[in-house]
Amino acid sequence: MSDTASDNLSDRLVATHFPRTKDAIQVGGLALSDLAEAHGTPFFVYDADLLRRSYRDLAQAVSGFAVVDYSVKANPAPAVIRVFRDEGAGAEIASGAEFAAAWAAGIDPRNILFAGPGKSDLDIEATVAGGIGEIHLENIEEMRRVAEAAGRHGVVQRVAIRINPGPDAQGGAMRMGGKPSPFGFDEEELDAIVDAVEAEPRLHLAGIHLFAGTQGLVAATLLSQWAYGLSLAARVADRIARALETIDLGGGLGIPYFSSDTALDLAAIRDGIPALIARVASDPRLSGARIVLEPGRYLAGPSGLYVARVRAVKLSRGSRFVITDGGMHHHLAASGNLGQVVRRDYPVTAVVDRGGPRSPCAVVGPLCTPLDMLARATPLPDLAAGDLVAVLQSGAYGLTASPTGFLSHPRPAEILVDGGSARAIGPAGRVDI
Ligand SMILES: *Cc1c(COP(=O)(O)O)cnc(C)c1O
Repeated sequence: MSDTASDNLSDRLVATHFPRTKDAIQVGGLALSDLAEAHGTPFFVYDADLLRRSYRDLAQAVSGFAVVDYSVKANPAPAVIRVFRDEGAGAEIASGAEFAAAWAAGIDPRNILFAGPGKSDLDIEATVAGGIGEIHLENIEEMRRVAEAAGRHGVVQRVAIRINPGPDAQGGAMRMGGKPSPFGFDEEELDAIVDAVEAEPRLHLAGIHLFAGTQGLVAATLLSQWAYGLSLAARVADRIARALETIDLGGGLGIPYFSSDTALDLAAIRDGIPALIARVASDPRLSGARIVLEPGRYLAGPSGLYVARVRAVKLSRGSRFVITDGGMHHHLAASGNLGQVVRRDYPVTAVVDRGGPRSPCAVVGPLCTPLDMLARATPLPDLAAGDLVAVLQSGAYGLTASPTGFLSHPRPAEILVDGGSARAIGPAGRVDI
């Protein structure tokens, strides 16, 4: 079925961020067709100006209440991390390799925090030894292992307790808590875990961490989650009889992917901030705390495109298939296989639109599996072998969240466009930043 609204979404995204001039989509002033010639297909391209714009828009909307860090797992390319570092962001990391990537990108380890369940001994060792700002504890074994590592290194490690909110937590119209979760400690056992951390001489309890879920598009929901985080923070401050130093309210700000998605209303976020500021200012348990948001998707997603070249177009029993050199091995999320309950199409567009009617197409990749679909029924104009298609909203959870080893195709290039020029950037661990 043709999806007119998602057609509008891709047209809207192109119109606002990636102007079509000389008939090809431009990224930061460069034509995608030229990038495809220079770097080969398929590839990811990120627009540094859009990364900056997302960061500045959000930082400005929450200014006076919270600072904005970057969640590296959304896109761990060091050159991308560096763009956010230059904007003043710290980093949230979820592995030792992400710690190294953030460090290589120039982020002070004191401005890095480490969350995630199942942290390895090696990762704990490396981050404690590297002077990481905060480790977020997610279970009791981890608390002991961090304390032991701190003991081995002769330091007192700053930690925060990650809290899985209880059944009374409300996020706007939706209940946000009360579900079983591998992440963090259940709110119901908060007092006991606070006491346990306080009893560890090698740990310094600096704050709490609350992350209620990803892809939040409703401002009121996010604002009430943040308000709930403040009340939990006050509760922990009471328990330890001192003010908190950090309150991490998580990431989870969404971007529109589908016809049914409405973009997060930053103005509504901004309107809700004075009440939060007033609440913090009036409560000595909270007023000295550094309050942090650590989004990934919101900051990196809109800047990126995944570009693939058409190898063949064919009809099968009335359905049009556009077969490309790109696929789920590079962009699992677009294929709908990254945890989506309902598979809907990402915004996809023809890089050169010669006009003419559009008709619904399945855009498929070269892998030998019916799962390898970048879109199921996306409206595209006439295309032929050699043409380019682009998947929008691909700057976050793209290559990094994809099974690149599947079918042993080469890794695609990643390109950063900045100041009117383009350069290939390496994955985390490579040094060309
Ligand atoms: C993944 C993750 C984020 C980023 O989530 P987004 O939805 O991309 O903003 C932030 N914090 C933690 C702890 C995470 O695991």
